[in-house]
Amino acid sequence: DVRHGPILYVEDVTVSFDGFKAINDLNLTIDDGELRCIIGPNGAGKTTMMDIITGKTRPDSGSVWFGSRHDLLAMSEPEIASLGIGRKFQKPTVFEALTVFENLELAMAADKRILPTLTARMTGEVRDRIEEVLATTGLVATRHHPAGILSHGQKQWLEIGMLLMQRPRLLLVDEPVAGMTEQEMERTAELLTSLAGKGKQSVVVVEHDMGFVRSIARTVTVLHQGSVLAEGSMDQVSRDPKVVEVYLGA
Ligand code: ADP
Repeated sequence: DVRHGPILYVEDVTVSFDGFKAINDLNLTIDDGELRCIIGPNGAGKTTMMDIITGKTRPDSGSVWFGSRHDLLAMSEPEIASLGIGRKFQKPTVFEALTVFENLELAMAADKRILPTLTARMTGEVRDRIEEVLATTGLVATRHHPAGILSHGQKQWLEIGMLLMQRPRLLLVDEPVAGMTEQEMERTAELLTSLAGKGKQSVVVVEHDMGFVRSIARTVTVLHQGSVLAEGSMDQVSRDPKVVEVYLGA
């Protein structure tokens, strides 16, 4: 397991809603090219953590750095997105009336960095990128299908593909396999695993399905009451008495 140095630092972050600490002194480091899974019971703070990284929620204290140069707490949501931090929400939000190809085209056009230079030559590059993303996501055969007729799994992969159009450096993925068949889950495991790596993306997956987490994660972070309860391999954390208590107790 080769490590390439951190890409994301969350340090001593706390955020309260009406005096309730949804995130409580959270520390998290994600390495460049890493595939990390975040698990934790409902209310553990997983969504709030993603909201903080993407600039949707501002913490009361602490710091969040992207690489060593970018202080994310000093940046707006669009500025953070333009650094290459992409987020996929649980429900797919593809444009159902447009084809798969058109959805990917639109995802590229939505990139403010590309728009001013959209020349004929750029368009060729966009087309090449779409072909790459179609291949990566296994959607080549569906390119001319309206997104509305895709299976649930295919819609999720298309939405991941839309994020990939902008060549992100960090992908935050919320419950990707909720509602998927076994086969779709296997394909999603392959896809997410193939996306992570040096020179590719770092991928952070929040997921409830433990079988799925076990199938993809090298490192699992367990959140509980807004902070890290345990971190390590799936085997390590699942044997941790603190983790067992949180999941089985109550
Ligand atoms: P998870 O995603 O792990 O289920 P959340 O981050 O959604 O957890 O929520 C953490 C805690 O913070 C929960 O107790 C939730 O009720 C609370 N919370 C989250 N967002 C808000 C908000 N905007 N206002 C008030 N409470 C919130």
